[in-house]
Amino acid sequence: MNRPIPWRVADIAKALGQGPTHTVTEIVFSGVSTDSRTIGVQDLFVALEGERFDGHTFIADLVKRGVRGFVVKKGQKIPKDVPGCLFFSVDNTLTALGDLARFQRLRAGVRVVAITGSNGKTSTRKMTGEIFGRKFNTLTTRGNLNNEIGLPLTLLGLSLDHEWAVVEMGMNHGGEIHRLGSIALPDIGVITNTSHCHLEGLGTVEGVARAKAELLPHVRVHGSAVLNLDDPRFPIFSAAVRANTAIENIVCFSMDRLNMDCVGASAIADREEGMGFTLVSPSEGTREVFLHTPARFMVSNALAAAGAALAAGISMDVIKQGLEAFEPEPGRMHLEPGFNHTTIIDDTYNANPGSVGAALETLERVTQNGVGIAVLGDMLELGPGTEQFHREMGALAAASGISRLYAHGPMADHVIHGAVKAGFPGSAAMTGTRDEIAADLLAHTPENAWILVKGSRGMRLEKIVSQLKRTT
Ligand code: ATP
Ligand code: MG
Repeated sequence: MNRPIPWRVADIAKALGQGPTHTVTEIVFSGVSTDSRTIGVQDLFVALEGERFDGHTFIADLVKRGVRGFVVKKGQKIPKDVPGCLFFSVDNTLTALGDLARFQRLRAGVRVVAITGSNGKTSTRKMTGEIFGRKFNTLTTRGNLNNEIGLPLTLLGLSLDHEWAVVEMGMNHGGEIHRLGSIALPDIGVITNTSHCHLEGLGTVEGVARAKAELLPHVRVHGSAVLNLDDPRFPIFSAAVRANTAIENIVCFSMDRLNMDCVGASAIADREEGMGFTLVSPSEGTREVFLHTPARFMVSNALAAAGAALAAGISMDVIKQGLEAFEPEPGRMHLEPGFNHTTIIDDTYNANPGSVGAALETLERVTQNGVGIAVLGDMLELGPGTEQFHREMGALAAASGISRLYAHGPMADHVIHGAVKAGFPGSAAMTGTRDEIAADLLAHTPENAWILVKGSRGMRLEKIVSQLKRTT
């Protein structure tokens, strides 16, 4: 059972730092909403200003529909003298949403795992949620609600009965994780890895690492940090850990180094429909684990999730069960049966240099005795090095043993150029629209080939995948 935590007027005022409010009618709200389409009449409405919508424009209609509480920006025109309605005026409604969430997180009395990193946040969060959910009443982020709106909305879903929250934090620029950390106040902070993504805002991969490390000062007393020892930016994280004396416990994980102090993996092996490995813990022994994904990097995510669980005192048996229940989201290294007995690796959800390298590595491994084909869309948001990154991606593809290469998007020529320069035959490479690429694949792909399809979200390569799926 998850009983909502009521919002009294005094709670809202306190959360917003507004001091005691004297109101004639005491209203008790049952939740907080920013969505005029789904709000319930008992909820408090926070009017956010988005690029396309301004929440303030819905207020008059919401009043008519019976909503009685509003958080609004100071100076906004709001309906005057509406009997029985309360308006809380704030400088910034987005900040107010975060403040309400922080208040909720604290009064719910839960403990929080917060997960950030360049790649693998959602996968690690899902694995962690599977593990914690077996032992505790656990709230997890839904979908990809991991930004300055999504994280507060997630935490506002906390009830009187939740024991843990497992949340992910994404970012586009420095300072964002700092704000999200100050809202979630994690007991366990996890950084999966850092790579060249969002460079437009942050300049260098060290800049990315420093932005991710903003999580660590917010880890609470008796807290833990779960860190990737294989990440070359590990020293940036350990320095941030040393600066926060509240962190009592550092759990490192590593795919490469098996030592007594790390959560590690040995005997990683491909199996039918996934991969197996031996999960090694520093003091709780080992377990054989099977993951439903062909992607080796998912083992790294599994180690991060296991590290968070060990930090929370969860047993290795429960960790194994949770990891084995994990299913990747559609579009994230998801295996799909394709036409003509091919197998499609649908990784169309997103792409950056780190994740493309990891996906190509998977393709190379699973096609050691077969035919591999790569369909690569542009990686977006890479800043001034964009062309170079795409040439490097082409060279990586060339080195991965594939027999055909397709590239789609404004950077496609750079991908092909990089591949050809690295020795890939130009006759086996092609650029084109999504439909042209799909048609060429349907015409020329041999039976049993593996086709990796990967690109940034904006490239919409799932439109290629849908044309290649097996129909019978
Ligand atoms: P986003 O920032 O887009 O929400 P995310 O960090 O939540 O991404 P996931 O959704 O778990 O990450 O995975 C997205 C893609 O990132 C995967 O399909 C895969 O290509 C890549 N990826 C995931 N984990 C790793 C990892 N540990 N190392 C390298 N690449 C990874
Ligand atoms: Mg995500």
